[in-house]
Amino acid sequence: GAYYIHHRMQSSRRVILQDEVKHVLEPFELSDEQLRRVMANLNTQMTNGLKSNDSENNDLAMFPTFVNFRPNGQESGEYLVVDLGGSNFRVSHVNIEGRNRLRLKNKIFLIPHSLLLGEGEKLFDYIAECLQRFIDDNGLATHKRADYKFDLAFTFSFPCTQTSLSQATLVSWTKGFSCTGVVGNDVVLLLQNAIDRRKTLQIQVVALVNDTVGTLMACSSLYRDCRVGVILGTGTNACYFENLDNVPKWAGERNQSTKQIVINTEWGALGKHGCLDFIRTKIDRELDESSLTPNQQIFEKMISGKTFYICKLVIFKRNLALYLGEIVRLIIIDLVRSSILFPDRMQKAPSRGRDYNIFLSLRGSFYAKHVADIECDKTEDLSVTASILTSIGIYDPSYDDCYIIREVCKTVSLRAAKLAAAVIAVVVNRVNMPSVTVGVDGTLFRHHARFRKNLIRTMSRLVPRTHRLVLSEDGSSKGSALVAAVNRHNQETLTS
Ligand code: BGC
Ligand code: MG
Repeated sequence: GAYYIHHRMQSSRRVILQDEVKHVLEPFELSDEQLRRVMANLNTQMTNGLKSNDSENNDLAMFPTFVNFRPNGQESGEYLVVDLGGSNFRVSHVNIEGRNRLRLKNKIFLIPHSLLLGEGEKLFDYIAECLQRFIDDNGLATHKRADYKFDLAFTFSFPCTQTSLSQATLVSWTKGFSCTGVVGNDVVLLLQNAIDRRKTLQIQVVALVNDTVGTLMACSSLYRDCRVGVILGTGTNACYFENLDNVPKWAGERNQSTKQIVINTEWGALGKHGCLDFIRTKIDRELDESSLTPNQQIFEKMISGKTFYICKLVIFKRNLALYLGEIVRLIIIDLVRSSILFPDRMQKAPSRGRDYNIFLSLRGSFYAKHVADIECDKTEDLSVTASILTSIGIYDPSYDDCYIIREVCKTVSLRAAKLAAAVIAVVVNRVNMPSVTVGVDGTLFRHHARFRKNLIRTMSRLVPRTHRLVLSEDGSSKGSALVAAVNRHNQETLTS
């Protein structure tokens, strides 16, 4: 068996995938029919979520965001933005001087891993400390009146119930964050209190904005028909403009001037009550069960992924398994166990068996970035794949090993792209306009060319309406500043 196939693969250098590899990968292949069923399920869940806040039965939170405007190009002023919850934690200074005149200066700060799993108050104190450093390093407070206060928008990429633009209760952590004392509390207040504990900081937190909403706002300021914001990155989510008439649960004001409001779907939670079970694989279940948040963010766990890591200390430590890379790793383990990959590995490199075992046993040691690089490996001898495998402790992989692993990466990534296409399609189809622009941000979309290509290709089959996906560079920060600017403008017109 194994020897014969191994031999045949090598002699032809063209691998005929074994039945067993096919057998393992087949559950990851999705037909358009299955995608349409995902679409129908998401659509139903969106409608249910707009009706009531019944989290016992609804998959999606469908949070109203209190953003009921689009930037009109008249926004102005300077704003600070704290962006927490994506691949990076960033502080930005944004200067807005009319349409297309948005200048952004930002700095990425590393969050020590201990802060992600420790006391919430410490995390917020750290954020305030970074704000202080950022203001000092850039001399932002010089030449300011003594009583000057910065307006700050807080891009906070986690599910929150909002009762106003600047009140937001965290419902649950996602993506590997897990600080104590934050869930159930107002995160705007937590940040404001941490800022106020530092006597030298003069900052008012004026808005809390999900990263999808920031992305939507930033893209809306450039494209008239932009109504949808999507994040495909460490996590995944979308928001869009919905008619208030379609939001029975909306308890806020209803008046002539407010016809639409941005809804934060939190679609990452799709599947919570089983509607994705028909496509979930054994591996998806395994990944979910061993995650920090079992039975939550079921959909997110099938498509998103931590794409980059800078060093071991940074925001996500290596053993936080987020998610695309981890799916591939679990498949690899399956293939090793059934001796399809690395046959007689241990005999060949006994001294290196230890590293190899570490790879196999270490959750999160395979990244979405690895998936992206391997699936794009066009070298004849698959040397890119070989060197990536070597870099994570799998030494001297054979051509066959590399070939099979590239096949695994392609399959997992294609599934993610198709699923992403299906859910974006649903939202685009709901927006009642002849053409729709979707603002997209997130490391997966930005840095993963094949994923992007597959996504766009699949969407063209699923969406009859004219549409385009536009990368919204720094959107989650820029857009939040725009929200703060519109907010200030509204306040000023109210008081004048
Ligand atoms: C969070 C969303 C966020 C998304 C993308 C998800 O885990 O629940 O609020 O928009 O990640 O960052
Ligand atoms: Mg982000």
